Amino acid sequence: MGLLVVGSLGLDTVATPFDKVENALGGSATYISLAASYFSGPVYLMGVVGEDFPKKYIDLLENHNIDLGGLQIVEGGKTFRWSGKYHYDLNVRDTLLTELNVFEEFNPMVPEKYKKSKFVCLGNIDPALQIKVLDQMDNPQFVVCDTMNYWIEGKKDDLMSLLPRSNVLIINDSEARLLAKEPNLIKASKVIRDMGPEILIIKKGEHGALLFTEDIIFSAPAYPLEMIYDPTGAGDSFAGGFIGYLHKTQDLGSENMKRAVIYGSAVASFCVEKFSTKGLEELEYLKVQDRYREFLNLSRFDEK
Ligand code: AMP
Repeated sequence: MGLLVVGSLGLDTVATPFDKVENALGGSATYISLAASYFSGPVYLMGVVGEDFPKKYIDLLENHNIDLGGLQIVEGGKTFRWSGKYHYDLNVRDTLLTELNVFEEFNPMVPEKYKKSKFVCLGNIDPALQIKVLDQMDNPQFVVCDTMNYWIEGKKDDLMSLLPRSNVLIINDSEARLLAKEPNLIKASKVIRDMGPEILIIKKGEHGALLFTEDIIFSAPAYPLEMIYDPTGAGDSFAGGFIGYLHKTQDLGSENMKRAVIYGSAVASFCVEKFSTKGLEELEYLKVQDRYREFLNLSRFDEK
């Protein structure tokens, strides 16, 4: 059974202190699907683009065995566009532009073949659309959802309806503080888990990620890279690696959940080494596994 991924596909214009790229392939569903494609197949992708979405990007996704049966291409429509600028501290970014375009009228229709998917990853889009997708699913077993400040501030009610229907919420530290209205992340995790998801993952950029469940708090480091070229998509690649690994192993126990967090971190580390999706385009599962093993040494020490 396939892993269903829903989210944005878009054209990103990104500036970092080192370089700038215009109209590059981006979008939450794009990064999640590419990252998950290295773990298990098939990945079913749902989203919408306009006629201006380059054919080479469609080919790229298809070459990664991503099933595009759920991708709508709107005649005469304009693809989602996003632009961001990173500060010298790459953990800080300003959104310069969000043009929803074809997403404004998007009515997600889940293809029959996708409805029985047990694993669903709701990438960052309007939570009302994330709910529409869940409404059409035939009893999914494991739902991971992502969101961002744009929706926490603009669509809070829809988000609050979505959270009780999600098993995992993945957000970054500033989004967690905003959602919980609480500066301390440990306290915030309790507030957010009370909103519905039994598992919460808080990403902290180059400081790693925290996994919160009923029983455990697990702290994963980020891979220590000397050169981070473009952090765009790191969070989505993390989500794709995380759910891709769980879908592959079909084990939702706490220990495997920790491994999935490390696999997510490993894939994200490849993503940020190059601009746009380039770091994910020619990855190999063996390289991801090698990096996963390197994580073991990052925080292992003798008790004495
Ligand atoms: P990340 O760096 O993981 O937060 O993801 C960045 C990607 O999210 C970019 O490729 C954007 O195209 C996409 N994105 C940014 N804002 C939004 C939004 N409001 N809705 C959907 N996708 C978005």
